[in-house]
Amino acid sequence: MEFHATSEEVLAGRVCDVYFRRTVEILKARGLRKRVVAEVTAKSLPESWPWALLVGIEECAEVLSGLPVLSRSLPEGSVFYPWEPVLTIEGCYEEFAEYETTLLGLLCQASGVATCASRCRKAADGRSVLSFGARRAHPMVAPMVERAAYVAGCDGVSTVLAAEKLGIPPSGTMPHSLALVMGSTVEAARAFDEVIDQDVPRIALVDTFGDEKFEAVAAAEALGGRLAGVRLDTPGSRRGDLRRIAEEVRWELDLRGFQEVKIFVSGGINEYKILELNDFADGYGVGTRISAAPTVDFAMDIVEVDGLPVAKRGMASGRKALLGCRSCRARLVAPAALAPAKCHCGGALESLVKPLTGDGKRTGDPPTIARIRERAISQAAELSLEP
Ligand SMILES: [Zn+2]
Repeated sequence: MEFHATSEEVLAGRVCDVYFRRTVEILKARGLRKRVVAEVTAKSLPESWPWALLVGIEECAEVLSGLPVLSRSLPEGSVFYPWEPVLTIEGCYEEFAEYETTLLGLLCQASGVATCASRCRKAADGRSVLSFGARRAHPMVAPMVERAAYVAGCDGVSTVLAAEKLGIPPSGTMPHSLALVMGSTVEAARAFDEVIDQDVPRIALVDTFGDEKFEAVAAAEALGGRLAGVRLDTPGSRRGDLRRIAEEVRWELDLRGFQEVKIFVSGGINEYKILELNDFADGYGVGTRISAAPTVDFAMDIVEVDGLPVAKRGMASGRKALLGCRSCRARLVAPAALAPAKCHCGGALESLVKPLTGDGKRTGDPPTIARIRERAISQAAELSLEP
């Protein structure tokens, strides 16, 4: 695993685009210790997302708390919109310039993963959504991906290590390999039922050898009331109309008295497929859509140098306030020096960003996983998937 940064290398600022290192070299050679304010914003979001979830801030806090800078941010798990400064860093530029690559890398991928997970959860409208995508990510980052998926609202994660770190039981059904090695779907379901701890729900995979509806009925008859569900992971080449397949499976199970057996669907699932399948599916395993989510393209821009507002073309200069109205929930970005106290509705405006680090340490205690997840779920609850 030679081509992996260790935590020590990341914290030492070694995952650094060389032009930042050269910039620092030049500033030091010229003796220019300029105090700057830099803001992290996404000027647009992937696809047509109207909003996104900010995840990765707690890892940024680990990096920033080792540096002589002041930082403020939206809390981990917050909803944010384009052009909102989600993280602001103030300090001598040469002290943090070499960390820009790292800080953006910590935010861009995790926020994309979290947003896709949140969108799938919203589309599923109360049905379960499990993160099954670890296999689409490098194993060294799989726990990070699953954390982002879980805090965004996935009901469970598939890998043993991520679940252990999150303090939740890992989630899974059975792989095709079990049915193939055992020789039949029913044998695999029976063996699972006999061997695996009784606390684990019995969910039979029903598309290995035959038609989904016949395998589903056979598994239900073999396990009786102990079968919690069936999983459809129909291969793309045989898939045709997956909604129709799920409808048929539901019909045949119900007709035989197996109304309690749930239907889970996996394989190429995203928020749009979830919306199509909701009438007949009770839960989803989502892989690639979550773990290989589009990245949120955050950028870090200097907006103030030695107290004077300055910014590159296309970027508003000066430090900004990100405010939210307590009454109508409106949000606005204003120059910090001119930040209004009242919303147009008359409600009080409050700063949505909070101190993150200062004096070489984190400000306050980091939030728990449960708190981050609660924030992400509640903030995304009323939002729509489409603009
Ligand atoms: Zn208002």
